[in-house]
Amino acid sequence: MKRQKSFTENKAILYLVSTPIGNLQDMTYRAVETLKSVTKIFCEDTRTSKVLLQHYEIKTPVASYHDHNKEQAAKQILKHLREGRSIALISDAGTPLISDPGYHIVNLAIKEEFPVVPIPGASALLSALVGSGFPPHPFLFVGFLDAKTSKREQKLTSIKDLPYPIVFYESPHRLNKAIESLYKILGERDLVIARELTKLHEEFIRGTTKSLQNLKQVKGEIVLIVSGNAEHEEILDEDIIKSINNYIEQGYTTKDAIILIAKEANRSKNEIYQLYHLNNKE
Ligand code: SAM
Repeated sequence: MKRQKSFTENKAILYLVSTPIGNLQDMTYRAVETLKSVTKIFCEDTRTSKVLLQHYEIKTPVASYHDHNKEQAAKQILKHLREGRSIALISDAGTPLISDPGYHIVNLAIKEEFPVVPIPGASALLSALVGSGFPPHPFLFVGFLDAKTSKREQKLTSIKDLPYPIVFYESPHRLNKAIESLYKILGERDLVIARELTKLHEEFIRGTTKSLQNLKQVKGEIVLIVSGNAEHEEILDEDIIKSINNYIEQGYTTKDAIILIAKEANRSKNEIYQLYHLNNKE
């Protein structure tokens, strides 16, 4: 077992700082303070981040960290940390590592036992999910689907039975192809397109994988959320208890009610028995 005490061991820290996803005001006080306090900020694209840094008068030197230089940049980051200097990592928008670079250096920093401290903030996936109208958990976040139809559809086939909402990132020019694949593989399901979140043209388009085919002029940044497979929807424990009690009220013995519900919920008798008796004890 290894325990990371983030702030009490006086070690240099690798901060993962979330930045806005379009609206500059979605920057936290802590994010600004952290970016001002570190020795260097590693950015995905230094030109993109300069706008944000200038806006908040953050004068900390910047360097680049992206997928193509991650080995080299990781060496530099580790050197800073070993010398006792804290570093921040940001991406072009939102939370680093979420469909963005950063996993590689986080992994290395943890191996060397440097504290890795996330500074929470905006992320498109959570804003889209909570605004979608779908039950928010559990859910699956896939990130970007493959641009190749065969790979995209292979991925969708592997997750088509999941009973909960699935969140994707998508680019506007691949949107129609993605929705076509969603309909082909998952069938007709509820679908929400959340676009331009936090910006002037923010919009939630709600429909189904069938009704939202061949959309015209859906531009900007997009999150897609599709509902889970209703046939495999999980029956909640509280619904199971209610159903057992209903059967008992109708005159069934507890044992028979449990057998019936176990069949209906496709779960073992023992599991339902334990669930029922555990609940009756409370
Ligand atoms: N790290 C980011 C995050 O935490 O959300 C995601 C970065 S990923 C490279 C960029 C993708 O995120 C976009 O193509 C889009 O799918 C989604 N995205 C980012 N900002 C968005 C916004 N304002 N509205 C809708 N989707 C957004």
